[in-house]
Amino acid sequence: MHNILLLGGTTEASALARLLAAQGIRATLSYAGRTDHPRAQPVPCRIGGFGGVEGLVAYLREHRVTHLVDATHPFAARMSAHAAAAARIAGVPFVALTRPAWAREEGDNWTGVGSIEEAVAALAGPPRRVLLALGRLHVAAFMAQPQHHYLLRFVDAPDAPPALPDHHLIVDRGPFSVEGDLALLRDHAIDLIVSKNAGGMGAQAKLIAARQLGLPVLMIERPAMPDRREMFRPEDVLDWIAHTPAPERGV
Ligand code: NAP
Repeated sequence: MHNILLLGGTTEASALARLLAAQGIRATLSYAGRTDHPRAQPVPCRIGGFGGVEGLVAYLREHRVTHLVDATHPFAARMSAHAAAAARIAGVPFVALTRPAWAREEGDNWTGVGSIEEAVAALAGPPRRVLLALGRLHVAAFMAQPQHHYLLRFVDAPDAPPALPDHHLIVDRGPFSVEGDLALLRDHAIDLIVSKNAGGMGAQAKLIAARQLGLPVLMIERPAMPDRREMFRPEDVLDWIAHTPAPERGV
């Protein structure tokens, strides 16, 4: 019998969880535990790290996982590296469900940077009004450029107010619309957007709005991922599961 471990925390993982539940395929969705109120899911969930590669290998063996699907966020590089390594060690068939990176289109004014640190360095200079579309864990790094006004948008209200001296915080988990983001950028007189190149639909609205308003975007490019098989549609993962036999294990 199939027993899928789905590493989640993304829209894609939730979509695959729905498909697996609809097909009656046994699956567990794993969350890191970063958000306070994860969406209700149609399959059982577990929450928290596994304890590195070793911990994940032990989990795969103990729970007799037949297929591992890494549907974590494209910036969750550590978890993705662990998943690829653990699947290889435990001999469990493995794929990643991810999304293509966003690509520049005509009218875009993007500057690519390689990391959050590079984005922070690129913000040196006179005060600006910046939409920091990054999530609460990365905001502290921008303390190094306290001269700007920062518009922040988080999934959850933070326990403590962000330390940035001049900021405005909105709590909203999206997905966001182009109309809504156009209004947001205008209302807050934003003149620069800092974004991760997450890809996908839910967070793309701000980039389309930026294009329409002619606003520059500081785009943080994706971290390197392990060599792995990638799929972009949850249906393709279902198909892969159906055609990939479970590993043979001794009793
Ligand atoms: P990360 O740096 O790659 O992972 C750090 C550690 O967190 C991992 O080594 C692992 O701990 C644990 N972990 C991460 N994802 C997990 C999962 N799905 N289930 C169980 N443990 C997990 O990850 P991150 O960038 O902090 O992202 C954490 C979670 O938020 C992921 O599930 C990701 O899909 C989601 N997310 C991330 C972003 C982003 O921009 N990074 C955006 C949206 C959603 P152990 O080593 O102990 O196993």
